[in-house]
Amino acid sequence: MQDLRQVALGQPTVGEEEIEALREVFASGWISGAGPTCVTFEKEFAAAVGTSHALSTSNCGSALHLALQVLGAGPGDEVIVADYTFPATGHSVMWTGATPVFADVRPDIGTIDPEAAAALVTERTVGIIAVDLVGQPADYDELRALADKHGLWLLEDAACSAGATYKGRPAGSLADLAAFSFHGRKGITSGEGGALVGDDTDRMDLARKLHTYGIAPAVSREGSNALAVPSFDVAGYNYRLSDVQAAIMRVQLRRLPDLVAARSRAADQYAEELGDLEQISLPVVLDDRTHPWQSYLLTAGDGVDRDAVVMALRERGVGSNIGTYSSHVQPVYGSAQECPVAARLFRTQFALPMHANLTEDDVSYVTSVVREVVGGAGVRA
Ligand SMILES: *Cc1c(COP(=O)(O)O)cnc(C)c1O
Repeated sequence: MQDLRQVALGQPTVGEEEIEALREVFASGWISGAGPTCVTFEKEFAAAVGTSHALSTSNCGSALHLALQVLGAGPGDEVIVADYTFPATGHSVMWTGATPVFADVRPDIGTIDPEAAAALVTERTVGIIAVDLVGQPADYDELRALADKHGLWLLEDAACSAGATYKGRPAGSLADLAAFSFHGRKGITSGEGGALVGDDTDRMDLARKLHTYGIAPAVSREGSNALAVPSFDVAGYNYRLSDVQAAIMRVQLRRLPDLVAARSRAADQYAEELGDLEQISLPVVLDDRTHPWQSYLLTAGDGVDRDAVVMALRERGVGSNIGTYSSHVQPVYGSAQECPVAARLFRTQFALPMHANLTEDDVSYVTSVVREVVGGAGVRA
């Protein structure tokens, strides 16, 4: 039997430098969360994304939940949410008791369509959550104008967009608050993790308090002359990143430009080697923004059976999956919205291997398999 080459769909890029950082944080004696390494990482992360404040969190879902609470979303409120996303976005709205109202997306880049969002504003609407789709930022100028017109807040789900830019500004600085993910499938990772970033000191202070059971983090009481016994006036959560994870993230953040460059090279090679295939379309990157390539999504054309393509790629050792989810069709939301564009992308998009460890050979292998599979009769619907 012929050796089957395997190319993973996603892969973290962690190694010796991260291990060295782990040695240091272990030696420091502070491995729980919200400690000195988190504080240092937060300063570095805020500087990288161009906001006044950053708060490290256990994941992006907890960062979104904190954001919605400090923005004041609650029962009776409606929050307009980009439909095409990993459903953490809609779930976080549900956790507050508010109602997610799903807006359809642009057919080219899959981010929230500002006109679709505008049509959903009611007197109960309190804010908008845009999603930077697999990293590419949404239309923040148009969304800001819409939010300002109706007195709404704007939240950026930047789970996938570390390293991206919009009109020269970094992802994370494009809305009132933004939430990042450091899950193993994202562009920079500590296995699990996240961050909330923003400029508003009061909101960020409240988020910090809520993320550690409703009191100031222990690190802020260190060195006090008196015994500082905090009192609890709100039932906060444990949404802390650990200092072990923060140590990994400090290294990942330093490496971010190189990791984005490596993924961009793979994306360019995909485009070069697949651009002439009629059965699929390539991802679109708009001129005024940059793509950090958390995922590389192709769109199957008419008559191409997307599910059969994904299974055929996997059989040949090429990692593949759907693009992401259409939210309004998920039973949990009981949504009455119609988002035909997102529904179509949910049916037709699929992901090719994309991570910073891909070699030129890996990409060539993947594109030869895609050509064979998509060009083959077996996948025609
Ligand atoms: C991955 C992802 C999330 C969830 O991130 P976690 O860190 O796993 O909570 C949220 N939104 C989007 C768009 C994502 O891709």
